[in-house]
Amino acid sequence: MGSNNKRRWGMVIETKRCIDCKACMVACEVENQVPLGKHRNWVGQEGPTGKFPVLGLRFEPGNCMHCENPPCLRVCPTGATYRREDGLVLVDYDKCIGCRYCMQACPYDARYLDEQRGVVDKCTFCVHRLDAGQLPACVETCIGGARHAGDLNDPNSEVARLLARNDHTVIYQEAGTRPAVYYIS
Ligand code: SF4
Ligand code: SF4
Ligand code: SF4
Repeated sequence: MGSNNKRRWGMVIETKRCIDCKACMVACEVENQVPLGKHRNWVGQEGPTGKFPVLGLRFEPGNCMHCENPPCLRVCPTGATYRREDGLVLVDYDKCIGCRYCMQACPYDARYLDEQRGVVDKCTFCVHRLDAGQLPACVETCIGGARHAGDLNDPNSEVARLLARNDHTVIYQEAGTRPAVYYIS
């Protein structure tokens, strides 16, 4: 970490601190007006549809990993899915045609179809909040203090310090997606 000064947003989840209260899910749904029955984040071993790859831990909060090498982006035929300089993988809703190729390509089951809008959506790390200098809603709300967000490239950030001090892992390392969400157990 800290080898360049470009910001890279990331998340660190301390699974042993998670108490499965699901406050993060409620906070996300309210903040992002997530359609009923859909989820941008989740807690548990199976993810939103039972397909999430697991670490075998008791409680496993998850959401879009904002991969550095995102398969969802590669398959998008319209360029709707894009990656910002700061690492956030986002959807340009004006360009999205709802084809769902990205949903099939994401190994983390992180995307859903918003039927009403005809577009695919997912966790943005609350980009609107980050850009306003605030933390993502799930991080701010986390009762157990399990969720952390910040600049992975800043050695003084909380996330970088947590990673420097603790053994950590990512989910599906073998997929080569290079997730920006790290887990400490
Ligand atoms: Fe794309 Fe899925 Fe990675 Fe998110 S977790 S960037 S949706 S491949
Ligand atoms: Fe791209 Fe939208 Fe199709 Fe996903 S559903 S691949 S974001 S056009
Ligand atoms: Fe776990 Fe925090 Fe979510 Fe509660 S808010 S379920 S402690 S990650």
